[in-house]
Amino acid sequence: MERHLQNGEGVEIENLKASVTGEIDAHRPQLSELSLKIHSNPELGFREVKAADWLTRYLEENGFSIERGICGLPTAFKASYGKGKPVIAILAEYDALPDLGHACGHNIIATCAVGAGVASRPAIDQFGGSILVIGTPAEELSGGKAIMVNRGAFDNLDIAMMVHPGTRNTATTHALACQHLEVEFFGKAAHAAARPAAGINALEAMLQSFAAINSLRQHIRSTARIHGIITDGGEAANIVPAHSAGNFIVRAEDDTYLDELKQKVLNCFIGASTASGARLEYRWADVRYAPMHNNLLLARLFTQNMQSLGRRVTRPNASSGFGSTDMGNVSQLVPGIHPSVAIAGKEISVHSPQFALAAASEAGIKGMLDAAKALAMTVVDLAANPETVARVKEEFKQGK
Ligand SMILES: [Zn+2]
Ligand SMILES: [Zn+2]
Repeated sequence: MERHLQNGEGVEIENLKASVTGEIDAHRPQLSELSLKIHSNPELGFREVKAADWLTRYLEENGFSIERGICGLPTAFKASYGKGKPVIAILAEYDALPDLGHACGHNIIATCAVGAGVASRPAIDQFGGSILVIGTPAEELSGGKAIMVNRGAFDNLDIAMMVHPGTRNTATTHALACQHLEVEFFGKAAHAAARPAAGINALEAMLQSFAAINSLRQHIRSTARIHGIITDGGEAANIVPAHSAGNFIVRAEDDTYLDELKQKVLNCFIGASTASGARLEYRWADVRYAPMHNNLLLARLFTQNMQSLGRRVTRPNASSGFGSTDMGNVSQLVPGIHPSVAIAGKEISVHSPQFALAAASEAGIKGMLDAAKALAMTVVDLAANPETVARVKEEFKQGK
């Protein structure tokens, strides 16, 4: 029989929070093992077969019903417990980076998500509603959640939350809109010494593009970012390069400025094509990462729960450093948060070998457990107070 708390029943909420955090402590051996196992078996986006299998098995063993391969993505999944409203989802990521392995710590995201889901069961048993753990593949390079948004995976949710490991504890995230660009130049091969006049140099076109982008960078907003690599720069020094290729990312604080900046960046390549005579081909990625829309009421609840675990929560600002996340796309559709839990010192950068080590360290395990606890305690706050869920949704509606 479900029921809702009256004012003055805060003690009961505190008791329930103590019991969900106790559940996470009791599951520490399984959760640590799961996190370390995913860490030592890094799998790239859309190929996270082992991780998806281990995570769903843990959820299944703990009473969740599982749908595997949702949205036509073999390594995506939906695990559910309870029924009806509110539908509270915790999102898991588990893809690794090329060469660096789990240098973004997605093993921690995944494990704290399943740990929080399982620990939340008593709150759902007592107050009703549903808790989902949604497995979202390929965050790093393919924007898996953006694809899942388009395929309706988040349509019936009331709230979506996840926690990313980092170098500070925050409840809100500053994440930029971004889109990837692939560029190729086609020139004409010739002997670089004997017949240079017969060649059209596709590498020079690429280098001129970089120079033009570097000039452009002086005159863009300080929060925007443009960066790229060359993936083909020619075959041999004595052949005029007939082909060059590169990958670029353009990021901006809002969608309007991203559109403006995309055109300016493209103009750099068009100019280099004209100057060099090399033909340009380009392709913007189908998937575009949306900026993060933080729900501040959810963030406040999460902050209080993190603080109750003895963590100091800071507010990120423009100097905190920021990237992009496909959670941004989810946050445009459903009230959500993407907090960060500190597992390493500020001197360490995410996407570095040092951060990969941190993701398997004692501090990494501690961060994973604290993140799971803070998420589960936030589920308690929401499940026990329908009016809080209503206020979270109202804030979301107002901000649109
Ligand atoms: Zn990440
Ligand atoms: Zn990352």
